[in-house]
Amino acid sequence: MSEVLGRVHSTESFGSVDGPGIRFVVFMQGCHLRCQFCHNPDTWRIGRGGKAWQAEDLLNEALKYRAFWGKTGGITVSGGEPLIQIDFLIEFFKLAKEQGVHTTLDSCAAPFTFEEPFFSKFNELLKYTDLILLDIKQIDDEEHKKLSGRTNKNILECATYLSDVGQPVWVRHVLVPGGSDRDDYLKRLNTFVKTLKNVQRLEVLPYHKLGVYKYKTLGIPYPLEGVEPPTADRVENANILLNCKDYQGYLNQQIE
Ligand code: SF4
Repeated sequence: MSEVLGRVHSTESFGSVDGPGIRFVVFMQGCHLRCQFCHNPDTWRIGRGGKAWQAEDLLNEALKYRAFWGKTGGITVSGGEPLIQIDFLIEFFKLAKEQGVHTTLDSCAAPFTFEEPFFSKFNELLKYTDLILLDIKQIDDEEHKKLSGRTNKNILECATYLSDVGQPVWVRHVLVPGGSDRDDYLKRLNTFVKTLKNVQRLEVLPYHKLGVYKYKTLGIPYPLEGVEPPTADRVENANILLNCKDYQGYLNQQIE
């Protein structure tokens, strides 16, 4: 048994929105960002909370659901921010690949750096990662800081690096009225994503209020009090400005 334990907030046996097909989704504990729209503030605390798992045990738990995965499903690790626990991730995905399981990492890439020891570990992780769902929250750095508490510079560097090494990526962008939903930001994001050669899909995720009750439970003021989800027109506008359908077409081409 390994000595590396993963701190897991929760799991979902039949996830259908975090990667292709039906997936066992692992939500890791811990995140450095403080996105105003976050619906999982209960995952933020680093090093405490959640349940400690051995990679082998967690994989065995996931494999109970393998019969439902078909050809396209598998395992997704999300969060919180999974890269905070990269040693555990490497071990977990390595074991999953030994079993022929499709692995997806859902990350905001905030821990990404070219500095060691992280960078070597990240490259090791990529060997066992089939797909990355990369959350780009705001293309404008100052607005990114307002929206999430941190810079996007290393996040965009990560996106470019993943393109350089040919790692398949789906870009995901939460559309927040007053935060990211502005035509000029969306056009700039589109310009940036077009520089990447590895993006198979681009998803607009409309901001929602499903996590508001968690803030109340935790006694944290809700940062987007009074902000309503974007209208269907604004979501469609974002889909058009980001050329989402073109990326979907690319994906269909790959599957055919
Ligand atoms: S990166 Fe994800 S988990 Fe972390 S604060 Fe943002 S939305 Fe929440």
